[in-house]
Amino acid sequence: MGADRVFMALVVFVAAFFCVVGSIHASAGDADPHYRTCVEQCEKTGCVGDSCFRNCKLSSDGVTADRPWYMQEPLYLQWKQWDCRSDCRYHCMLEREKERERLGQRPVKYHGKWPFKRVFGIQEPVSVALSVLNLAMQFHGWLSFFVLLYYKLPLRPQTRKTYYEFTGLWHIYGLLSMNSWFWSAVFHSRDVDLTEKLDYSSAVALLGYSLILAILRTFNVRDEASRVMVSAPLIAFVTTHILYLNFYQLDYGLNMKVCVVMGLAQLLLWAFWAGLTRHPSRFKLWVVVLAGGLAMLLEIYDFPPYEGYVDAHALWHATTIPLTYLWWSFIKDDADFRTSSLIKKAK
Ligand SMILES: [Zn+2]
Repeated sequence: MGADRVFMALVVFVAAFFCVVGSIHASAGDADPHYRTCVEQCEKTGCVGDSCFRNCKLSSDGVTADRPWYMQEPLYLQWKQWDCRSDCRYHCMLEREKERERLGQRPVKYHGKWPFKRVFGIQEPVSVALSVLNLAMQFHGWLSFFVLLYYKLPLRPQTRKTYYEFTGLWHIYGLLSMNSWFWSAVFHSRDVDLTEKLDYSSAVALLGYSLILAILRTFNVRDEASRVMVSAPLIAFVTTHILYLNFYQLDYGLNMKVCVVMGLAQLLLWAFWAGLTRHPSRFKLWVVVLAGGLAMLLEIYDFPPYEGYVDAHALWHATTIPLTYLWWSFIKDDADFRTSSLIKKAK
């Protein structure tokens, strides 16, 4: 068990290193004084240029008397104020970006996000559609895995359990990835504090869990005690990171580094394993690792949305759809392969 302890110490060390080095940067867009005055003005008047917003009416005319009682509740006012702010930010951003384009300047980020154009009130329609497709792909993969193990492959005669030792772990993986794609779709359609935190938290949980799974599968850790020993420090780290993001500070730079380190670690693990093993489906693994590594570059070398719709992140969501199919196909092959070798051994 020495190797993976050393490895895990390395992961924790690298992550801790980035924690210290990582610092917070405000986005260039919302630091711009023109944008700031525009938002301030808009929140007072309810208008940007010629377009005015229904949600800001309340503060501009100050008339609330003609509204029914249930619309005068403080909660409703808060909601409205909050909607007004989001409308103002959006339209001020569009205004600023038009001006920047006229001056021949490149797009900048606002509040950590590229300037996207909305469609039917959906903030990043392309990413939403792709997230939903990813969710469907994950569900399809998980369902076919389930059917294979419980209806096609033989079960252990005494316990009626599967021969494959990683069944439960892959079930959890399937649930965590479906959960993460669900929140991704919600977050990309409307980004507010809550949806953002839910999306980031579920993505971190999935990445952390899949790292644990990579270690357990590639080192072929099968007994319960060793599994607990391997996963406990990683679960502790991931939990701390999620708590930090939710209740202390949502630090995008730091989170990106943590995710890249966890992502790279599992890619490397699978790559080494695929190189060493004689697994019949190692070729599928090579493709997933190679393409997954290239896709990760899209997340790191972030570029602004083309025509206001397709950015690097959306493209990354597109690449994960075929990869998910191939990935589950590898998992099913693995279950098949392990089951038949265990039965052969038993005979
Ligand atoms: Zn996303």
